[in-house]
Amino acid sequence: MSKVYVTLPAYNAELTLLRTIEEIPAGIVDQFLLVDDASPDNTVALARELGLRVIVHPENRGYGANQKTCYSEALADGADVIVLLHPDYQYDPKAVPLLIAPILAGYADMSFGSRFAATGDPILGGMPLYRYVGNRLATTVENLLLGSRFTEMHSGMRAYTRECLLSLPFLSYSDDFVFDSQLLVDAVTSGLRITEVPIRTRYTKESSSIDISRSMRYVAGSIAMAAKRGVQRGRRGRRTPVSLRTRRRPRILGRGPHTEATCMLCGRNDMYLLYPSNTRLRPESSDFACTAESVGKHDDILQCRVCGMVSSRTPLEDAEIIERYQDTVDPHYLEEESARRELFEHVLATMRGFYSHGRSLVEIGSHVGLFLDSAAKAGWDVRGIEPSRWAVEEGQRRFGVDLTQGVAEEFTAPPGSVDAVVMLDVLEHLVDPLSVLGRLHPVLSDEGLMVLSTVDVTRLHARMRRAEWPWFIFPHLHYYTPPTLHSTLASAGYRMVGWETVPRRFHLSSIANRLGDSFDPVGPIARRLSSVVDPRVPVGWLGDIVLAVARKA
Ligand SMILES: [Zn+2]
Repeated sequence: MSKVYVTLPAYNAELTLLRTIEEIPAGIVDQFLLVDDASPDNTVALARELGLRVIVHPENRGYGANQKTCYSEALADGADVIVLLHPDYQYDPKAVPLLIAPILAGYADMSFGSRFAATGDPILGGMPLYRYVGNRLATTVENLLLGSRFTEMHSGMRAYTRECLLSLPFLSYSDDFVFDSQLLVDAVTSGLRITEVPIRTRYTKESSSIDISRSMRYVAGSIAMAAKRGVQRGRRGRRTPVSLRTRRRPRILGRGPHTEATCMLCGRNDMYLLYPSNTRLRPESSDFACTAESVGKHDDILQCRVCGMVSSRTPLEDAEIIERYQDTVDPHYLEEESARRELFEHVLATMRGFYSHGRSLVEIGSHVGLFLDSAAKAGWDVRGIEPSRWAVEEGQRRFGVDLTQGVAEEFTAPPGSVDAVVMLDVLEHLVDPLSVLGRLHPVLSDEGLMVLSTVDVTRLHARMRRAEWPWFIFPHLHYYTPPTLHSTLASAGYRMVGWETVPRRFHLSSIANRLGDSFDPVGPIARRLSSVVDPRVPVGWLGDIVLAVARKA
């Protein structure tokens, strides 16, 4: 049996609360949860009298912030279906069974009540004309931007499955009214199944309606969100790997002769040579440092014709690769400490958007523990493993973080003991990313977060530079495309819930040092220029590095 929670975000609901609760048909709600946003009236006392579970915000935080508390608490309590019902009696409580029916039947991940569906007449129900017109116009524009066909997109009567809320970064949304639109837009562009059910409109004197200037700001914010996500993710999320459902044809990046090799991802033996090796050097330990200067030197780059996976053919044995990481010394890494911290803050902000039960975090491939240090300051209980002996000593000495020397392939922890696993720019270095992700699966708690960044070989920069793309380097054994990362995660038992390009800014001098003199004319010019002025360059927009967030499937 599904546990149905009705959450009531309340502000001055004293006069309408009782009616709202009483009119919900009996026998369908397992728990009521009222979150009071510092109402000056007697909402809290009344709610307690009625036997509801009550949480009180000591200060007024806003309608969005109220919902964040509602949903976090319902998730923490183990709710399976979470209903949003305004205690101001604006929406008909009798419609709650109708609202959750498509969810209980397994047809939808989210549902909402539409006042405009079927023969609904919101004006007859008391909706002011300006709101009616505004609602119609905004809905039309948002539908166009998102490729949806809803009759309304501004309903405050909703229901979600647990998985729906776990899949959306709802804790990163606005604390104000636009929260509703952000959630709906993300749900549409994440490929979640959303359905609307017709409901009656009722505007009463007691209903709290926001004033015109706030309504305008709300409408502008809603349309802006739909436009932004429509561009980033495509209409109905057609372009984001988060919503990939079916197997598509693989994205083949070039032409080349067949070559004998087995695909890491699908195990088939149908690979072709995408770019031949451009050096006869054998990779040394110094080539495996984060700030290695051997940028652009690479082994044969191959692509699988069956699944599209791109991998390199390293001349090194698995044990030799691990030895090189263990011996790596990288004293220049911390020269860009502030840029790296900025990036890590961004990763932490992304993680904060998703609900998490606990605060236990493990980082695989921690280097000197800079991320762990930032994460600890953000309230995570952290530890990490790192193969480089130098980096482990350096990290323990500098940041005092819990850092163990070891490789991902040997990582162990009690089942379900970790709430977040973080692997930043690690996956592409692993000999067998699938087996490492599989090994981490039982360690991660059931609703934990798998957070990883990696290279994306399909973006414009990579396509333009072809074999000269600076991320083709010895230590990168694999290069992901959005569909191959999606299938890698799926094969290891995860489902992707977040995907974004990573914003990064580094000083021109450090970019110039990495490019060296091999990239004529960019490298030498950048090097000379950086001796005069050394601005920070936003290299993130090149789109080379992406951040994916996943949960267990
Ligand atoms: Zn393959």
